[in-house]
Amino acid sequence: MEHAQIRENYSLRNCNTFGIEASARYYAEFASTEELELLLQEPLVRDAGKLLVLGGGSNILLTGDVAGTVLKNNIGGIDTIGEDEEFVYVRAGAGVNWHQFVLHCLALGYAGVENLSLIPGSVGASPMQNIGAYGVEIKDVFHELEAMHIADRKRRTFDAEACAFGYRESVFKNKYKGKYIITSVTYRLRKQPVFHTEYGAIRQELEAMGVTELSIGAIAQAVINIRTSKLPDWHETGNAGSFFKNPQVPLDKYAELKTAYPSIPAYPQESGMKLAAGWLIEQCGWKGHREGDAGCYPKQALVLVNYGKATGGEIFALSEKIIGSVQDKFGVLLEREVNIV
Ligand code: FAD
Ligand code: NAP
Repeated sequence: MEHAQIRENYSLRNCNTFGIEASARYYAEFASTEELELLLQEPLVRDAGKLLVLGGGSNILLTGDVAGTVLKNNIGGIDTIGEDEEFVYVRAGAGVNWHQFVLHCLALGYAGVENLSLIPGSVGASPMQNIGAYGVEIKDVFHELEAMHIADRKRRTFDAEACAFGYRESVFKNKYKGKYIITSVTYRLRKQPVFHTEYGAIRQELEAMGVTELSIGAIAQAVINIRTSKLPDWHETGNAGSFFKNPQVPLDKYAELKTAYPSIPAYPQESGMKLAAGWLIEQCGWKGHREGDAGCYPKQALVLVNYGKATGGEIFALSEKIIGSVQDKFGVLLEREVNIV
């Protein structure tokens, strides 16, 4: 492989939805597992140390230049590879844009991902944090994935159990962090839809749309409408979606909070209660707060934004202050959802 494909001191500004200016010592793109395999053998890549694989860059905060190599995943292709009575099995290349994949499923009448419409980023990152929205997570439609081990370039198939999915978690964010590059994901979609409309504002939006007969297309459109009205468009205002996870607290802690703050939103979990991080942050007065070009989005406090020239360090510093004040006021520790690089 020619070195020409490996760029040096490459600006990552257009590779992250926060729009943070930072550069990679080396940068290359790959569009197949074979290209990836060759790149991983390149002495420049092998010896540069840190390796960061990127899809859409919609779940990272760059707090400085990347001293090693950034590899951008462009593996394409969507294929229906099997079916049984209930399900169709669809494999997508890890570089496919997630929403394009959702649109593909909608067009073919394959159900299961409609609630996950308009989430930015790539197919390959979807299992990373078990992306979720409106009561549906990737684990609900996941069949298996293929990944390449970075150190020995061996290919491995992971089923759902091996992925150890949790709330915005998987084995790739924990035990295997930085060890594998996901190259394709196979989803299991329903031939007959099971609708999920009980979450957030979906039902209200369907009513406002005048929908009388449910369909996966109508739900997708309702989700798109809500997201477009509530979330900043990252092309205009840099962000990476929810910056923090919703914290889960034990029942006795919840009881204490409920006494002090009767209107606190909470959702029962298998053990304990899930709190809405956005509400906690808002109660601490951060919603709409701005420090230079780093800010807390006025319509959704869970989203931190870059109004133009904020650095990753400035956004990170704001997140530290928010974590500190939520801890002081409520005694609840917020965890970041966004990957800090
Ligand atoms: P990147 O940001 O490129 O990467 C994220 C992490 O995954 C990095 O650590 C990276 O190294 C790793 N990675 C990426 N690709 C691979 C691969 N092929 N193999 C191994 N590791 C890889 N998330 C939700 O869960 N639900 C939402 O509703 C949601 N809404 C959002 C709304 C907005 C406006 C924005 C900006 C973000 C939102 N997100 C949401 C977060 C984000 O879109 C998802 O987490 C998405 O899956 C990230 O995909 P990506 O390709 O951009 O990942
Ligand atoms: P919302 O509807 O205003 O609700 C606030 C929070 O309450 C959500 O975070 C959600 O938790 C929780 N919630 C709402 N209804 C619930 C129910 N019936 N059962 C259990 N929990 C419930 O939230 P929003 O900000 O507009 O987001 C809507 C959906 O899109 C959420 O699922 C959210 O996670 C997702 N989203 C995610 C990101 C991201 O970057 N991760 C960005 C934007 C939106 P959960 O977050 O645990 O679902």
